Amino acid sequence: MKLYLVDHNYRYAVEQMLLTLFPDERPEYPTTPQEEGDDYVKIALLVGDTQARATCRMRRGGKISGGGAFVPVSSFTDSLVKNSKLSQIVKLAFYRAALDGGHPKPVWGALTGVRPGKLMEKLLREGKSIPEALKVFREEYDVSPERTGLCLRTAEATLKAAETLGEKDVCLYIGIPFCPTRCDYCSFVSQSVEKSMALIEPFFEALLKELHAEAEAIRTAGLRVVSIYMGGGTPTTLSAEQLDTLFTQIESELDCSYLREITVEAGRPDTITLEKLQTLRKHNVGRISVNPQTMSDRVLQCIGRNHTAEDIRNALALVRQAGGFTVNMDLIAGLPGDDVETFQKTIDQVLSLTPENITVHTLSRKRGSSLSENEAPLPDAAAVGEMLDYAASQLLDFAYAPYYLYRQKFMSGGFENVGWSKPGSESLYNICIMEELCSILAIGGGASTKLVAPGGVIKRSFCPKYPKEYIEKNDELCERKQEIIDWYREEEL
Ligand code: SF4
Repeated sequence: MKLYLVDHNYRYAVEQMLLTLFPDERPEYPTTPQEEGDDYVKIALLVGDTQARATCRMRRGGKISGGGAFVPVSSFTDSLVKNSKLSQIVKLAFYRAALDGGHPKPVWGALTGVRPGKLMEKLLREGKSIPEALKVFREEYDVSPERTGLCLRTAEATLKAAETLGEKDVCLYIGIPFCPTRCDYCSFVSQSVEKSMALIEPFFEALLKELHAEAEAIRTAGLRVVSIYMGGGTPTTLSAEQLDTLFTQIESELDCSYLREITVEAGRPDTITLEKLQTLRKHNVGRISVNPQTMSDRVLQCIGRNHTAEDIRNALALVRQAGGFTVNMDLIAGLPGDDVETFQKTIDQVLSLTPENITVHTLSRKRGSSLSENEAPLPDAAAVGEMLDYAASQLLDFAYAPYYLYRQKFMSGGFENVGWSKPGSESLYNICIMEELCSILAIGGGASTKLVAPGGVIKRSFCPKYPKEYIEKNDELCERKQEIIDWYREEEL
């Protein structure tokens, strides 16, 4: 889409709105004047003595439309606020022009960004009452009543979790970048075991070395690990013996007295054995994810999974037999080959399995996944909307509550991912990572460390995505742990 910005340079705001409204479009900034018949978006900004006004003119598919928004200059209390308000009216003008041109109203209205809950939390923290915060969502951002309600409930869960965290509390993430086979929609870095079996052992050795260095940094910086999350990939591709070795080292090198939860993703049922589950229980792993994504054998086949819905039921029976786990099950709305009726059956079947947590994702067509390369046929946005509405109403009926939520780029219909939980079974890690409540220290393949300071300052660093590269850079990664010590030292100063 050709974008013309007049008298401003709020490119990021414009691109965020472009991606939200038209996810298949990419921004172009022509240096030549508009040509007759071209589709375009032209957004102008005028800051006067009393008012700043943004206006947008759009031509799309031959139809001309327009929109505008304004803000009083008296509300610019400082340059940061001014910047944020101007960027907001630029987005709103674009949004209103799109709606004027016939674009269907998105459920999230003019709200862009991956963490809609942050705005709700900010409003509540600033002292706004719940009705006032809801009004801002409705009137200033045009968010639907359902999404506004969802946001309020997740924001309340975040604020409650935040109260329980101390300044030196952190989460530890461990990335295991292997899976039995690669799912078609996967954009993670996971290596299929079939192709990279020989790398597992050297990767595991490197991981233990990195864990040792991380634990040393955690001790030196005086940090308290409150949650451990092992993801990937599929961590249960590791053998029972390897899982035992890893957790034994964790117990001997970390002070586990502050630990409130340990989660292990066992996403693929074809990796779950009773022996592995008993090993995890022996080390106090209390949360596990068994992720069907769908309970339809046909859809499982469409996404390249080598197992059936029956395998998922059997895996879950093993988890229950081992006992003592809070279970999460991930589902995805919008998978290729799925439809509203099949998805509804998936929801009903998963509810009958009574997991404590159910996470309902919307398919995100990220680059790197073979779905985006193969252009697989997908349910349209209206169908995905129906799927999510059904999921929400059933989950509420079965006494699950939404407790975290986020959006991603390239999501079907601009919807969201929502973590639902039975009361008291919420995952602290999920809230912490999504809402940036504390630092996430991360080791392993594709892991990303996020150092969070009060006030929201964040520093990130990444481990290499591929096992081979991870193994080669292991020494460097271990040396980099000094960053954690320095970060907290500066924080103290
Ligand atoms: S199980 Fe998850 S991480 Fe592994 S290939 Fe499938 S989507 Fe990717």
